[in-house]
Amino acid sequence: MAKSVIVAIDGPAGAGKSTVARSVANRLGYLYIDSGAMYRAVALWAIQNQVPLDDLHRLEQLARQAHIEFPDGRVLLNGADVTAAIREAEIGEAASKVAACGGVRRAMREEQRRIAASQSAVMEGRDIGTVVFPDAQVKIYLDADPAERARRRAAETGLSPEHVARQISERDHRDRTRAEAPLAQAPDAEYLDTSGLTPQQVEEAILKLVRKRTSN
Ligand code: C5P
Repeated sequence: MAKSVIVAIDGPAGAGKSTVARSVANRLGYLYIDSGAMYRAVALWAIQNQVPLDDLHRLEQLARQAHIEFPDGRVLLNGADVTAAIREAEIGEAASKVAACGGVRRAMREEQRRIAASQSAVMEGRDIGTVVFPDAQVKIYLDADPAERARRRAAETGLSPEHVARQISERDHRDRTRAEAPLAQAPDAEYLDTSGLTPQQVEEAILKLVRKRTSN
C-alpha cells in the first residue's frame, strides 16, 4: 500500500488557505482538515459554557472532551452542527485566545495526528508544518499582503476593510508571538505569496509542488 501523504498549509488569516486547501484536497482525493475550525469549536464551546478564556485548566478540560468531526464539509461539535456559528468574527477572536493555551494545543494536536494517521490529508492551520507534522512531505507557507488579506476577509464577512484589517492584525500578532507553537514558516516550507493570484493559480502551484515532492 502507498504511504499516506500530508500536505501542510500554514499562514496568517486571509492568506487564502481554506479555499485552496479544500480544492487541492478534492483534486488529490485527500482528506481536508481545517485545524482552525477545531480551535474555533473549542472557543465556541467555552463561550457557551461561560468558561473564561484565561482559565487554562478548564479550557484544556473542554478541549479534551470536545468531539469534533468534519462530515461533508460541515463541522460537528459533540454531534451539534456548528459550521455557521464558528465563522462569527467574535469566535475567530476567541479562538486565537484559546489557541494560546498549551493544554488546548496538546489536545488538538493529538486529535489532528489521529485523524490523519491512516490517510493522506491536506491540513491547514498555523503550526501544521512546524509542530503537528514536522515530517510532512509537502509544506507550504501561504501569505498575501495585509491589505489584500483584509479585503478578502471583508468581502466574506460584509464588514468594513478597515475594521477587518485591525482585527486580523491583532489576531496575527497574537498568533505569531505566543509561546506555544506560534505561527511561523517551517524552514523547509515553500513560501507562496497569493496577492494578485487567482485561487486556480495558487491551486496549480501547490499541485505542482505536491507532484514534485511525492514523485521518486
Ligand atoms: O484559520 P482560522 O482563522 O479559522 O483559525 C482561527 C484561530 O485558530 C487562529 O487565529 C489561530 O489562533 C488558531 N489556530 C492555531 N493553530 C492552528 C489553526 C488555527 O493556533 N493550526
